[in-house]
Amino acid sequence: MNTKFIFVAGGVMSGIGKGVTIASTARILKDYGFKVTAVKIDPYLNVDAGTMNPTEHGEVFVTDDGLETDQDIGNYERFLDQDILRDNYMTTGSVYQAVINRERNLGYKGKCVEIIPHITNEVRDRLLKVAKKNKADFVLVEIGGTVGEYQNSTFLEAARIMKLEMPRQVLFMLVSYFPIPKMVGEMKTKPTQHAVRTMNSAGIQPDIIIARSSMPLDDVRKRKVSVFCNMDYRDIISAPDIEGSIYEIPVNFEKDNIGRRILKKFNLAPNQKNFRKWNNLVASIKSSKMPVKIGIVGKYFGTGDFILPDSYLSVIEAVKHASWSLGRKPEITWLDAESYEKSASWRTKAVEELKNCHGVIVPGGFGKRGIEGKIKAINYLRKNNIPFLGLCYGLQLATIEFARNVCGLPDAHTTEINPKTSNPVICTMAEQVEKIKEKNMGGSMRLGACDCRLHPESLSRKLYGTDKVSERHRHRYEVNNNFRKQLEAEGLLVAGVNPKQNLVEIIELPKHKFFVGTQFHPEFKSRPLSPHPLFKGFIQAAIR
Ligand code: GLN
Repeated sequence: MNTKFIFVAGGVMSGIGKGVTIASTARILKDYGFKVTAVKIDPYLNVDAGTMNPTEHGEVFVTDDGLETDQDIGNYERFLDQDILRDNYMTTGSVYQAVINRERNLGYKGKCVEIIPHITNEVRDRLLKVAKKNKADFVLVEIGGTVGEYQNSTFLEAARIMKLEMPRQVLFMLVSYFPIPKMVGEMKTKPTQHAVRTMNSAGIQPDIIIARSSMPLDDVRKRKVSVFCNMDYRDIISAPDIEGSIYEIPVNFEKDNIGRRILKKFNLAPNQKNFRKWNNLVASIKSSKMPVKIGIVGKYFGTGDFILPDSYLSVIEAVKHASWSLGRKPEITWLDAESYEKSASWRTKAVEELKNCHGVIVPGGFGKRGIEGKIKAINYLRKNNIPFLGLCYGLQLATIEFARNVCGLPDAHTTEINPKTSNPVICTMAEQVEKIKEKNMGGSMRLGACDCRLHPESLSRKLYGTDKVSERHRHRYEVNNNFRKQLEAEGLLVAGVNPKQNLVEIIELPKHKFFVGTQFHPEFKSRPLSPHPLFKGFIQAAIR
């Protein structure tokens, strides 16, 4: 096997865009004609990301083969424009679980099982499997967290050992932060020097440093880092904050020749150089100036005094992809569902906010908080003919709104919130009943790709341009088939159905400008180079 592995660690602090950095580097290598894939390692003990709160950890991204992962997997898919599967995500929890299960089954034949080599071997074997399955020339591996913390040290150790075992196939990259403190007025390199020393003490010398800062890294500082960190100054890549979109980052990186530097270290020449598609994308983003105003009614925004829309990352990106492809610049407004529940603020604030949008999305969610506000918003959008796109919980709440206000079932609800309602229009799937009873909640939802057959006369069929699609799921509840006739009789169109399980996948209101709800998450499959048809239809309607 001749695959090259690039391990990427973070320096100084988290949240500086390691995932996007890796995705951008991966894109560049792909455009040089190589087969590339990327892996994310999360140091958490959670076995997958499914049980993590999105306000704390960000969006839970679902792969086609149904693993609940970190949002960076979404970044890799969007930049590489290819599917990333479950083998490309691991956590401390998943690695330990596998090793401990093997130990329980006598898989280690009486040996003492230890962190080194058994955990580190497990990490290595998983990475080799990814390389083989993807027939990859390059595997980029993101080690979550920052160097020097206890949490990710086992993974750095695994990386170090891999370099020892296959010296010509492993390279280390450090994505580090260079602060410009106000009172000093210049960019400081010392924190990064310390980060490199910390890596050195783990037996690792970075081959490339990505210098994240608000400004570009100048020559003086490049040379300084070069001397103090023991590196060729050409391997220190400037990565300033960007004003435009993240999709410009690969173009920026190439200005510092990151692709060529990596290839040179592995003694490789480019197979090709084809940046045309990506450059065209960046050009079309830059030329999209006319705004289209989209509201997102959600609840996972706040951490203290800060708003972090990370929980809805894929939804935001899907809106952007569709808007740019139609020459528009998306302006996204965050609409706080909880505040819509108070009738005073509904009259003064909500109606104004909703009226101001060209289109409104109600994205996925769980639990009680904010749902009555979302239902109120959907009611307003339905009655006022404002384009609406409901995603997962969004479809469920739109069904509840329709049942309550059109079908005349005032207590219609989902059993997720009111298990005793006499009109459970949204209810638990049969396969979920036992799981919920046993509190077997991890990784047990309806997850990943499922087929959906489209109604021949539906808008969705027209937008997709095909009869059958496959989309990704993450939910426990469904439209209750016992109410389907009643809903349809009042004008709700079941526009998509799962052919095997006969489950409602898409609802539409044919008389409305654009009223579409999906039980799946189309946002997970939207890419900048291939925007999602339903998002495109939604934005088109919003523009109109
Ligand atoms: N809470 C709902 C369910 O579990 C919707 C989930 C979602 O929006 N992803 O079915």
